[in-house]
Amino acid sequence: MYCPFCGKNKDKVIDSRASDGGKVIRRRRECLECHKRFTTYERVEETVRLTVIKKDGARAPYDRTKILNGLQKACYKRPVSVEQLDALMDEVEEDLFRRGEREVGAQTIGEVVSDKLKRLDQVAYVRFASVYKEFRDLDDLLDEVRDVLASPPPPREQGKLF
Ligand SMILES: [Zn+2]
Repeated sequence: MYCPFCGKNKDKVIDSRASDGGKVIRRRRECLECHKRFTTYERVEETVRLTVIKKDGARAPYDRTKILNGLQKACYKRPVSVEQLDALMDEVEEDLFRRGEREVGAQTIGEVVSDKLKRLDQVAYVRFASVYKEFRDLDDLLDEVRDVLASPPPPREQGKLF
């Protein structure tokens, strides 16, 4: 990075921290030539914009952070790390963006997310699904739980069977 004081392209990063919910990385740099300090910001270029259609037809911009927050709540006290959830959301976004549609239903997103969560942690899956599916009553919820328990084990465990 070119130093704003002396113009030399020789600096070292002395501190990096995430802000705006991890969307922006702020770096403090020190010029190795004049020893003055300056700050740079790094963020992902937003090339794809996805609009979410809610149940009532209202449109809202796609918000990864919001879904991640929901996932973290669902994974409360479960053996799922933030890194795993982040990777899960990367997969979800790949799926969604591959569809090439600029608008996608909230229900569809909920399904894609919960489908991947199911393979990660079944308890978290039921918690998450109970929010997005808005189960009408306990029977609905129990049906879903039975489905989960009856479903085949995740692929990484299937390997042991053969
Ligand atoms: Zn300098």
